[in-house]
Amino acid sequence: MSVAALDTHPVPSCVRSARESFSAVPTSAWDGLETGEVRRLVGELSRLESQVAAHKMAAARVLEKARKAAANGDGPRPGTGTSTGATISFDFGGDRSGADALVNTAQRIEEQTTLTENALASGVISSKQADLISRALAKLPDDVTAEQRERCEETLLTDAQKLTLKDLRRRAARITETYRKTTDEVDADEDEILRRREDEARKKTSFSMWDNNDGTVTGRFTLPEAQGAMLKTALDALAAPHQKVGTVNAATGEMDEIGFGQTYPQRLGHAFATLVEHLPADSLPSNGGVSAVVTVNLDLDTLVGGVKAAGLSDGTRISAGEARRLACSAQIVPMVLNGTSLPIDLGSANRYFNRSSRRAMEKRDGGCTAPGCDRDSRWTEAHHLNPYAISKTTDIRDGALLCSFHHHRVHDQQWSGRINPDDGHVEWKLPGSDTWHRNTRWRP
Ligand SMILES: [Zn+2]
Ligand SMILES: [Zn+2]
Repeated sequence: MSVAALDTHPVPSCVRSARESFSAVPTSAWDGLETGEVRRLVGELSRLESQVAAHKMAAARVLEKARKAAANGDGPRPGTGTSTGATISFDFGGDRSGADALVNTAQRIEEQTTLTENALASGVISSKQADLISRALAKLPDDVTAEQRERCEETLLTDAQKLTLKDLRRRAARITETYRKTTDEVDADEDEILRRREDEARKKTSFSMWDNNDGTVTGRFTLPEAQGAMLKTALDALAAPHQKVGTVNAATGEMDEIGFGQTYPQRLGHAFATLVEHLPADSLPSNGGVSAVVTVNLDLDTLVGGVKAAGLSDGTRISAGEARRLACSAQIVPMVLNGTSLPIDLGSANRYFNRSSRRAMEKRDGGCTAPGCDRDSRWTEAHHLNPYAISKTTDIRDGALLCSFHHHRVHDQQWSGRINPDDGHVEWKLPGSDTWHRNTRWRP
């Protein structure tokens, strides 16, 4: 198109004169007006905004068509950027997502509506209302006739004059719903939408984890929402009890320390660690003959109280106390090595407290047996009082229930525990103390 032809084209002169008119009036000029007039003019400016929006959408459609033509090899590229949204935002404002939304709405309006486009271009509705109506029309089922579609559009355009945006959205949802024949159909549609969402969610699913080289790892994951809900429920259950998990100072009767952290994220973190330890090792699939189960490798000497560090089968080093605690736990298989690092005992399923001995301990102990702890039996692990017994017995005279926090304490501070010979209740000698203490909360 030549320069002379552009001069007579209505768009450039319209845009130019609008820009010039506004440039000629400073914003301070509003001060001299009476408020009734200001209100009317603000309304008019909003209508003008709608008209400008309609023109911007029309412009976006022209650019989008040119981009598609260029992608097919005919015609020059319309400008910078990988998409029409990028081009528009590059030219002014830099708002890429806003420009993308403009292009999308422009296309949807062109495909779905004619009345709405006109209403926007004449400043009758706002661009948000136009967007909402076009979305509603796009949701109408395919078998709706052109007439029904138009009636629907007219109704929404009339409603737009008197409803708030929120009410208009509700109205639009109801109208599109009435054009659906049966509830079965609605259900089937919803099912289809959900199925697609789940498909998408599976594609986005990922997990990554990196070593902080300070004894911790940090991770990041994206899960489908169903599995996310399962994880959240499990963590909440493990973190939830509004209980005092801590150790009472025998002398003062006060809590010396509180376990599992104070804040909700800290408690969830500990809950996550507990969850990982409780994965059902025996039912995880093996990976081409490679076991999915981590074993704890420790010396016999470490098992019975030595301080030599131990390791997991993947090479991770752990302290002697942590190795002993993990070896206690039913889900982790200890590999006990002799002095020359040969396995002398690989734990087998029958070394653990079985279901009935576990139940007997719950009845006997009531909850965590550490003095002052409030955790009930649901949140406890079975500890072997005699480490030799780990591979040999499931006799409950060798066991004591401990919450995960106190199970850590017992192993890393080497508490000694016993069953009281007179009444059969679990008692502990805390580090630095010479007397036996019991948890009087559960067993006075
Ligand atoms: Zn233990
Ligand atoms: Zn406890």
